[in-house]
Amino acid sequence: MKKKFQIVIIGAGNAGISVAVQLLRKNSGLDIALVDPSEYHYYQPAYTLVAAGVFDINKTKKFQKDYIPQNTTWIKDSVTEFKHDTNSIVCGSGNEISYDIMIVAPGIQLDWSKIKGSKEAIFNNPKVTSNYLFELPTKTWQMIQDFKGGVAVFTNPNTPIKCGGAPHKIMYLAVDYWRKKGILDKCQVHYISGAGVLFGIKEYLGALEQTVAEGNIHTHFGSNVVEINSSNNTVVYETKANKEVLENEVKQFGGACYGITEQADEQLKKVEIAFDFCHVVPPQSAPDFVKNSPLADPNNPHGYVEVDMYTLQHSRFKNVFSLGDVINAPCSKTGAAIRKQAPVVVDNILSYLKNEAIVAKYSGYSACPIPTKYGRLLLAEFDYTNKPAMSFPINQTKPWWVMWILKLKILPWLYWNKILKGTA
Ligand SMILES: Cc1cc2nc3c(=O)[nH]c(=O)nc-3n(C[C@H](O)[C@H](O)[C@H](O)COP(=O)(O)OP(=O)(O)OC[C@H]3O[C@@H](n4cnc5c(N)ncnc54)[C@H](O)[C@@H]3O)c2cc1C
Repeated sequence: MKKKFQIVIIGAGNAGISVAVQLLRKNSGLDIALVDPSEYHYYQPAYTLVAAGVFDINKTKKFQKDYIPQNTTWIKDSVTEFKHDTNSIVCGSGNEISYDIMIVAPGIQLDWSKIKGSKEAIFNNPKVTSNYLFELPTKTWQMIQDFKGGVAVFTNPNTPIKCGGAPHKIMYLAVDYWRKKGILDKCQVHYISGAGVLFGIKEYLGALEQTVAEGNIHTHFGSNVVEINSSNNTVVYETKANKEVLENEVKQFGGACYGITEQADEQLKKVEIAFDFCHVVPPQSAPDFVKNSPLADPNNPHGYVEVDMYTLQHSRFKNVFSLGDVINAPCSKTGAAIRKQAPVVVDNILSYLKNEAIVAKYSGYSACPIPTKYGRLLLAEFDYTNKPAMSFPINQTKPWWVMWILKLKILPWLYWNKILKGTA
């Protein structure tokens, strides 16, 4: 097998394939290898739709071989080590492959171990699920349909995650389903979030807060879930909230809030809530082989690849570029962001190959499509300025039916037929 390539791309997911096809469209003579062990390619943005019963899970998974671009080499192996001093990578099989330019795009790691009991619970506890794994959105949909009322808990960790909207999107749809079924008044819904707010861009917040109010959803911010206990179906979170506030919550929620335990750190309390339904989102970080490598940003607690946030070139290794969920740039981790990052990486690599200045810049653009109910969706678009960067000639601070259709019908088609072919 060939051991040296002009360009080696680590990861053939949304980012890796997008950048490979776009490079080849601009220069079909490039010698590119993609390294990825996965037999399948997944369209993760539709997992929420599957969990809401409006999308077929089988349409989210396709054979990787059908999307790896022709005239590239697919190395079906996983990278275990970067050897930047020799411009090479080591794979699980022991193979060492070298490159002139490397593009790092292996996505993000789900850190289930940071929530004690969560991995066992999602697979073995019929009351616990997560839309973050391909195997589970269908379980979520079954649980939503089977729910007869009681305490429903939706969690969001205190780390950056892929699609920051996913932890609450499914909550709004579940609440709307229970409303339509006529059981919402028997449901006590809690959103336990490690973040400080529901959504970081204030212009989009109003519509979401209204959805929370209409669903009578109880929000707990600055609350980091640390355990799912399947023996008594409780979720445990840590918070610095004032003790009186917590005691009032215990009174307000009757039997739902179980107890408050003070920790050695006096400010930190543990709260335990018993649930009948739980959707859990794990903390996330760079894959370990990235985190433990010289490519990682030493100042980033999650070990993401250190890039210039505009050019997406590595800050220290100039023949390394990176994009997608794995980068340390302060943008949202979404496929929508990748759509704007890929052309920047492509232009900058072509300039690099010609010894020209690297000038293409990524604006930090990302989009988060948030369904607020069945048939209504808020398309939040924004960039590094944390201001709305709307693309459509309608007021996007409100949910629209047309945006629901965009998410349900148009974006999945666009992904498989245009984005992965380099034409959108
Ligand atoms: C529930 C959910 C809802 C979402 N909703 C949306 C949405 O509405 N809109 C949106 O834009 N985005 C959404 N996203 C986010 C979107 O799916 C990701 O941002 C996007 O897939 C990231 O692309 P990526 O290429 O960086 O990583 P991925 O697409 O995850 O691909 C990473 C690839 O790297 C490979 N890999 C991993 N480790 C190695 C290794 N050691 N060696 C070689 N290859 C490796 C993997 O096999 C995989 O093929 C959602 C995600 C989830 C989970």
